Amino acid sequence: MNASNPSDWIERSLKSVWHPCTQMQHHETVPLVPVARGQGAWLYDFDGKRYLDAISSWWVNMFGHANPRINAALKDQLDKLEHAMLAGFTHEPVIRLSEQLSARTGHALGHCFYASDGASATEIALKMSVHAWHNIGHRNKREFVCLKNSYHGETLGALAVTDVPLFREAYGALLQQTHVVATPDARQAEQGETGADVARRAAQDLDTLLEKRSGHIAAVIVEPLVQCAAGMAMHDPIYLKLVRELCDKHQVHLIADEIAVGNGRTGTFFACEQASIWPDFLCLSKGISGGYLPLSLVMTREAIYQAFYHREVSRGFLHSHSYTGNPLACRAALETLAIFEEEDVLNCNRERGARLTAALSPLTTHDKVKHFRRRGMIWAFDAVIDDPEQAKTFSRRFFGIALEHELLLRPIGNTVYLMPPYCLSDEEIDGLAERTMAVFNKVISQ
Ligand SMILES: *Cc1c(COP(=O)(O)O)cnc(C)c1O
Repeated sequence: MNASNPSDWIERSLKSVWHPCTQMQHHETVPLVPVARGQGAWLYDFDGKRYLDAISSWWVNMFGHANPRINAALKDQLDKLEHAMLAGFTHEPVIRLSEQLSARTGHALGHCFYASDGASATEIALKMSVHAWHNIGHRNKREFVCLKNSYHGETLGALAVTDVPLFREAYGALLQQTHVVATPDARQAEQGETGADVARRAAQDLDTLLEKRSGHIAAVIVEPLVQCAAGMAMHDPIYLKLVRELCDKHQVHLIADEIAVGNGRTGTFFACEQASIWPDFLCLSKGISGGYLPLSLVMTREAIYQAFYHREVSRGFLHSHSYTGNPLACRAALETLAIFEEEDVLNCNRERGARLTAALSPLTTHDKVKHFRRRGMIWAFDAVIDDPEQAKTFSRRFFGIALEHELLLRPIGNTVYLMPPYCLSDEEIDGLAERTMAVFNKVISQ
């Protein structure tokens, strides 16, 4: 194997590696890119070509690849403790991370339960909710409510609260029945309606369901402010306020899945801050470790914690994963939080965000663009494509042409979105906007 120019890596990968979220046969035409290294917002291949990682490598990378601060923290941690089990033992990185995250909620969510990936965090929140109701004597409360077009992960429990037919189709019989309520997606606004009007209508739909069924419902799960996998469907923060009120009124838990929208992505550290609410469970993953290592957690309230606190083993939350609270992952997360603090990231992102919005402004009046929208560090717009055959292949064609323009972008259906890491220079921001528009115009004119 020639390590410096592995010309056969694509072929070998396609033979032996089953790639995620991929119809493997499409790789007969869609490029597979072997990555040699990453630096800042860029990924480099073996032919000296580079790609601006404008979707933060599936929404995880916060401060660029090979970030010097996170690299140094991990090297230091590696020589101290790579891993220890978290049952019966504890360690400094997991303690400090829990304390700091709790402080960011004003200690409203003071207890952190750890896992490795996002879907596991969803599973934990669902199980904790049902088990908490069970422990306080409400044994009928074991159903869940999710939003239309919601996405909360792809393990069986998480898939049950995921309303994406393509992902569910083959597994329907294995999934627990879930109530699906109206989405507050602001794109549904009718003539003269605001996003807040749509949100109120959606909340009314939830109220109607809870009115009838709350005796059997454990929790409502919501992705606050932006339903990312639904194609960056954005909603008015009033929706979260109303859902919080309804959950209190009907005695149902609120689970906020901030796996994608947490970590400053929507402009505040937690998306829920923009509605001045706290959920009963808050799920974090993706960017929490800076995009370095698998880490997820569920934060919850004192009252939930107390529902499990008892001398009986079976009343405890006995869920576990082998790598729960891995010290390396927690250390990467601590350094990520330190960067947020010390480099005034949320304020800097306001400037970066304004610059990118201005640079993308030609799209707002483009005749093939609908619903140009932005929340914090997420930009999205929908391509108007009349030919259904062209629409079907839009995402794949866009991805391929973007690569030719040194750009990593993967549209969701006909929605083009940008979710860049929080480290772009002015030149990179301007270049990103130019390339995005050039690629879009090329794809749309095919
Ligand atoms: C990515 C994602 C998940 C699942 O996380 P994985 O680490 O991919 O299992 C769950 N919820 C939301 C909102 C996500 O974006």
